[in-house]
Amino acid sequence: RSTLSSSSAASDVYKRQLKNKALFKESCFVGGKWIDSDSGEKIKVDNPANNEIIGEVPKCSTSETTKAIEEAQDAFPNWRDKTAKERSIILQKWARLIEQNVDDLARIMTLEQGKPLAEAKGEILMGVTYIDFYAEEGKRVYGDIIPDPMPDRRIVVIKQPVGVVGAITPWNFPSTMITRKCAPALAVGCTVVIKPASQTPYSALALGVLAKEAGFPDGVINIITGSAASIGKELTENPIVKKISFTGSTEVGKVLLQQSATTVKKVSMELGGHAPFVVFDDADLDEAVTGAMQSKFRNSGQTCICANRIFVHEKVYDEFLNKFIAEVNKIKVGNGLEEGIVSGPLIDQPSLMKVMDQVKDAVNQGAKIAVGGDVHSLGGNFFQPTVLSDVTNKAKITYEETFGPVAPLYKFSSDEEVIKMANDTPYGLASYFYSRDIGRIWRVAEALEYGMVGVNTGLTTKAEIPFGGVKESGLGREGSKYGLDDYLNIKYISMAGI
Ligand code: NAP
Repeated sequence: RSTLSSSSAASDVYKRQLKNKALFKESCFVGGKWIDSDSGEKIKVDNPANNEIIGEVPKCSTSETTKAIEEAQDAFPNWRDKTAKERSIILQKWARLIEQNVDDLARIMTLEQGKPLAEAKGEILMGVTYIDFYAEEGKRVYGDIIPDPMPDRRIVVIKQPVGVVGAITPWNFPSTMITRKCAPALAVGCTVVIKPASQTPYSALALGVLAKEAGFPDGVINIITGSAASIGKELTENPIVKKISFTGSTEVGKVLLQQSATTVKKVSMELGGHAPFVVFDDADLDEAVTGAMQSKFRNSGQTCICANRIFVHEKVYDEFLNKFIAEVNKIKVGNGLEEGIVSGPLIDQPSLMKVMDQVKDAVNQGAKIAVGGDVHSLGGNFFQPTVLSDVTNKAKITYEETFGPVAPLYKFSSDEEVIKMANDTPYGLASYFYSRDIGRIWRVAEALEYGMVGVNTGLTTKAEIPFGGVKESGLGREGSKYGLDDYLNIKYISMAGI
C-alpha cells in the first residue's frame, strides 16, 4: 500500500512539512517521558487520501499500560492537592499552545484522518473551547449543606476527583474527543491515561508534546498507542483506574462495560448514533437544507451525530429533495490538503465497503439514487456524496448506523407516524427537526427519545452543552457543568455532637 519503502523516511517527509517539527512524535508519553513499546513492535499509520504510510507508532500492550496507570497514580495526590486555580493556569497554557500550533496540528490531522484542512482546524479550535471552559468550570465544584432532621447534626456534601481516568478515543475526532474528556478530568484534579485510535495517533501525541510544554507535572497526562484489546482490558480491569471514559462504537462500548464491571468502575460511554432529521411541512426549507448539509456531510458523514435518516413531510418532499440535490451536487471531494475541498476520503476500505453495501441494499429494497451512489472517480477511499430517495423501512440503512456521505430520504404524513419512525432504533444520541409551530416544537422535542435535540439547526455541539445519548448510545455527559460530574465522587460527611 505504501509508496515509500521505509516508514522513517516517510515520517521525515511529513515532519518537514511542519513549522514545529517537534509535534510529529512517534513514541508514547508515560510519566513525562517518551517511550517505545517493550517489544519494539510498531503500528503503521497511513493517509486515507492516498494510502501512503505516514509513519509508525509503538504497539504497546499490557505492561506499558500498567506502567502508565502507575505513573498516573503517583502523580495524582500532588495534582489533586493543587488549587483549582493552579490547575486552571496550566490548562489555559495548554489551550494557548494548541491555538498557536493550530496550522501544524490541522495538517497532522488531515494527513492521518483525511478531513479537509479547514475542518481539521475547526475541530482543533473546538477542542480548545473545552479546555478553556473547564479551566474555569473546575473552580466551581460546589458541595452542599443539607438540613439534618436531628438538631445536633449537620449534613455536609463535598465532591472529590475520582482518581486515575482511562480515556479511549475514536479516529473521527482525533483531537476534540481527547480534550473533551481530559479537560474536565484534569480540571477537577484527576490524572489520565489516554489510548487514541490506532488510525489517528499523531494528533493525540502532538497534544502530549504541548501538554509537557504547558507544564503539566510528569504522569498527569499519559498517552499509550497500540493493541486496543490488551490496553483496553488493562485500563478496565486494573483496580487503580477509577473511571473509564470511552467514545466509539456501541459494540466496543459493551465490551468495555462488561470488563469495567470486574472492578466496579465509574463509566462514561459516548457510543454510536443514528440521528433522525425531520422536516415538517411548516419548516423553512432553505434552512432545513442548510442544516441537513451541515449535519450529514461534515467529516464525510463520519460523525456519531450525523443526520442518518431524513424524514420529509409528503407536502414538501419534492421541493426539499430538489433543493437538497442542488446543494449536494456542489460538494467538492478530494484530498483534504488541497484548496477548496469540502469532503475528504472515508477512513479505510472496510468503511467504504460498508457504505457501498448499505446503498446497494437500499436500492434492492426499492430506494432510488438521486445523486451519487458509487465509489468516487478518485478511487481509493473516496465515495460520492449520495442522496437516496423513497427509502423503505426494510433497507439496512434504516436500522444500521451509516458512517459515510449517504443521505436516505423517507416520506411521512403525520407527526405521530414520524415520531414513531424516528424512535424506532436502539440508538438515542442526536436528533433534529425543522418546524415553526411552537406547540409542535415542544411536543416533538419531548417525544424524541434522544439525549440531544436540534430544533431548526443541524449544528448542536459546543463546550457549553451536555453532549451524550440515551438507550444504546451511551451513559454520562461530556461538556457543560454536567460534564464535571463524571469525574467526581460525592462524599457525605455526617457532623454530630454540635
Ligand atoms: P471503535 O472501533 O469502537 O474504536 C474506538 C476506540 O476504541 C479506538 O481507540 C479503538 O482502538 C478502541 N478499541 C477497539 N476495540 C477495543 C477493545 N476491545 N478494547 C478497548 N478499546 C478498543 O470506533 P471507531 O470506529 O473508532 O469510531 C466510530 C464509532 O464511534 C461510531 O460508532 C461513532 O458513532 C462513535 N462515536 C461516538 C461519539 C459520541 O460522542 N457518542 C463520538 C464520535 C464517535 P483501535 O483504533 O486501536 O482499534
